[in-house]
Amino acid sequence: MDSLTEMGGIDKSSYIVLEYISLMTESIVAKFGGTSMAQPEAVARVVEAHPEHKAIIVSAPGTDPSTGLKMTDSLLTYGLWDEQHSAQALELRDEIVDRFDTLYSMLDNQVRSEMRTVCASMLESGNTNPHFYTALGERISARYFASLIGAHSLRPAIYFNKNGELNPGKTKAQIRTQISKTQGGRVVIPGFYGYNPDHEVRLLGRGGSDRTGALYAGALGLDYENWTDVSGIYSADPRIVDSAHIIPELTRDEVREGAHGGSGVLQGNAILDLSGSGVTTIVKNTNDPEAPGTRITHSLDKARERAVVAVSGREDLVKIAIHDLGMAEKQGYVAELLTKLALHGLSFEHMPAAQDSFGITLHAESDNLGVQEFVNFASNHRLSQQASITNEECGAVYVVGEGLRDQMQLQRVTARVLSMAAGLDISVLPVVGTRSPSLALLTNREQVVPLVRAIHKYEVES
Ligand code: ASP
Repeated sequence: MDSLTEMGGIDKSSYIVLEYISLMTESIVAKFGGTSMAQPEAVARVVEAHPEHKAIIVSAPGTDPSTGLKMTDSLLTYGLWDEQHSAQALELRDEIVDRFDTLYSMLDNQVRSEMRTVCASMLESGNTNPHFYTALGERISARYFASLIGAHSLRPAIYFNKNGELNPGKTKAQIRTQISKTQGGRVVIPGFYGYNPDHEVRLLGRGGSDRTGALYAGALGLDYENWTDVSGIYSADPRIVDSAHIIPELTRDEVREGAHGGSGVLQGNAILDLSGSGVTTIVKNTNDPEAPGTRITHSLDKARERAVVAVSGREDLVKIAIHDLGMAEKQGYVAELLTKLALHGLSFEHMPAAQDSFGITLHAESDNLGVQEFVNFASNHRLSQQASITNEECGAVYVVGEGLRDQMQLQRVTARVLSMAAGLDISVLPVVGTRSPSLALLTNREQVVPLVRAIHKYEVES
């Protein structure tokens, strides 16, 4: 790797850096996802029409239509193989190199042949860290794309601690320093990964390029355009609700609470990375660049007339219900159980509770080992012989809108959706947060879709 274009060291005082960034007010951080990077010429057209795109964050190319494989999935597999010279590994290596070569066939032959060599040598580097290979899709994508648009590609200024957690302070400082050195020029940065203190590659989780974009936008205080293959966030998953529409503006909390239109348009952690910042995120469509998209802000400029703006559902939850007489008086009872859950790496989604009972929902299947061990632990931990501990699969429907932070609005919407569900013979358990812009309804997995449709029809459309 060329150390000049891929370095992100510090040598300027933060004062100069901040002053410089404040001059970049017209600049934007633009991130292009996998479906966009699978059509680099379309991305190049968007970028050409948008001189304000200064820091361009790229994903690995998405699904290959001829094989149905996602570049990152292939690399993930490749990184787990010990032997890089087996027939299987060589075949996959060639497939990866060929895919990049095909995607960038418009580049001149010399550049292409140099890229082929670089790409193959990275894949054969003998690096023992599997993350190194998984991240290569983004790394190579950034190099090729930079070459296509005549820009430099830089190393991501994303830093992790030794324990594998993101180091937000160092990341922020290094991003500012790195971008200040570009003197306002356009740069391409690979998403999805960064480095630990030993300079080893570490990943931001699947879909993590969204986080790279959010971290750059947050550190620089610039708006963040997230370019994808849909024209914004829908009011419900358009695959199940025909009349779902694009929502012009959402708050970050609404997106976190379930206004995602049935697709992972913006990875949940990217929203967390932006919390506390004034950054506006705009979801845009590479295939329809003129469409206004969805703006995601910290708070709405103007309150909406309707309380509910979006509905979504999920069918991959499990509900554990514990009824144990005396738990209300026993200090630390629930805390001990929750600690056990955390030891299994499980975090809970909802927690409906009463005097001597509480339930928790988790993203898991009922035969998950951690869930089973937790249920065993809970039954050994019981106070009364008659305690009941049940574990069943369930789904949830999320009714979302800033208006639901208002107690009266929440009460009216809850009353309406509960009577609608009863009318449809669907049994639901409502779970409300305090001052949260959402109402969750726990239900059977097979009732999720009909409930989403009905609530969309009566609360969002009419
Ligand atoms: N390529 C990575 C993934 O497939 C990261 C990303 O696209 O955001 O998860």
